[in-house]
Amino acid sequence: MYSSTHSEDILPSLDELRQESLPAKEAACFIQDDLLLDGNPALNLAGFANTFMEPEIEQLMTKNLPKNITHVEAYPASNAIEKRCINIIARLFNAPLETPESEAVGVSTLGSSEAIILAVLAAKRRWQYSRERNDQPYGKPNMIMSSTVHVCWKKAARYLDIEQRYTTCSQERYTLDPHEAVSLVDEDTILVCAILGSSYTGEYENVALLDQLLQEKNKEKNLSVGIHVDAASGGFVAPFICPELIWDFRLPLVNSINVSGHKYGLTYAAVGWGIWRSRGYLPSDLLFTLNYCGSVQTTCTLNFSKSAVHVLGQYYQLIRLGRYGYCEIMTSLTKIAAYLTSSIQEMSGGDKFVVMSRGQGQGLPIVAWRLRHSERYDEYDIARQLRLKGWIVPAFTLETESGELKMLRVIIRVDLGWRRCAQLVQHLQSAMESLDQRADFASG
Ligand SMILES: *Cc1c(COP(=O)(O)O)cnc(C)c1O
Repeated sequence: MYSSTHSEDILPSLDELRQESLPAKEAACFIQDDLLLDGNPALNLAGFANTFMEPEIEQLMTKNLPKNITHVEAYPASNAIEKRCINIIARLFNAPLETPESEAVGVSTLGSSEAIILAVLAAKRRWQYSRERNDQPYGKPNMIMSSTVHVCWKKAARYLDIEQRYTTCSQERYTLDPHEAVSLVDEDTILVCAILGSSYTGEYENVALLDQLLQEKNKEKNLSVGIHVDAASGGFVAPFICPELIWDFRLPLVNSINVSGHKYGLTYAAVGWGIWRSRGYLPSDLLFTLNYCGSVQTTCTLNFSKSAVHVLGQYYQLIRLGRYGYCEIMTSLTKIAAYLTSSIQEMSGGDKFVVMSRGQGQGLPIVAWRLRHSERYDEYDIARQLRLKGWIVPAFTLETESGELKMLRVIIRVDLGWRRCAQLVQHLQSAMESLDQRADFASG
């Protein structure tokens, strides 16, 4: 269709419901045309969200789009699949189940943010009830986390009226310091957050040390503070490439864990999972039992209606890939990250950049780096140069106790293969050359 048709009709009313209808084809073309201005997801290395799924599951998802998973009576099979996913993920995280057949405790959510808000609420209630039982005040709850937490933690704190206590980063350490975290704990602490896979550098926080120090503090001060692990990104990475890392329910104080299906769980947005150690960690007054739409059902999510397709997408990846498939993919991504890391280290004479991420499976498959010395250009200029070639590589700042560190970050996802990563290296190299030349020229 020629795009000039109807332009005068359509343009003035973009933000208002039009009186007339449009033919289906025309409406679809109209939107498709607008979408041309979006970036190319394959070149967007800024986001963790997965951007590739196989056509077999895409077809299945399209077919099942009309199903609202909340309607248990109408869609019992979709609900059974959701339960299976919760059981599989809880077992992957080593939840202590009473018998091998026991049902795990968890929910599917729109993403980690929703799961985190629910987990924080559960921890707050548990703390409150224990304070009430002992006739102690419960008006000033606090929670402890690294200054690098995702914004959803700040939302959870503000929405639920919880004081935020932060540990700081230094110029060399970009994760939670467990000693500092535990020193901030007092009788009003509802939980300590540990991040499995910092969104800044991909590093795993030391949950095992935190658990040990917190056990000592609990004993000394007669407290029962627990840990929530924010495994939004790492929950589907660490178990496969770093099985010796103990971070999950094997640690006695880890009460709840969240993970995003749409990151390294390899589904499309939006699905996440909240898993609790056992029923006792999810207070029953957060569960609503409804007798509605024909069957009794229990819910505890913030949202009610939700398409079943994202849960189906997650289940597909779990059964399609299995442990073997996830291992293979995560190992391959880690190798690509290692290649990009060494290319960056060797670039421009080998002294230009400091790599901030950790390789060899000791962190997420992401590469974070910064300029070693201040130059006549900064990380934002490098990001802009790469943008000219179509790459979306974000520059941002990490706050430390001695000022902000500027940095660049690339997320290695399944759709960024070796070849495209090699192109990125070339383009980064030429971006650096033009920035250096331009700076030389400017300084005469
Ligand atoms: C992405 C992310 C979140 C938020 O997850 P959503 O699924 O996007 O809601 C929370 N914490 C960490 C560490 C993350 O990386």
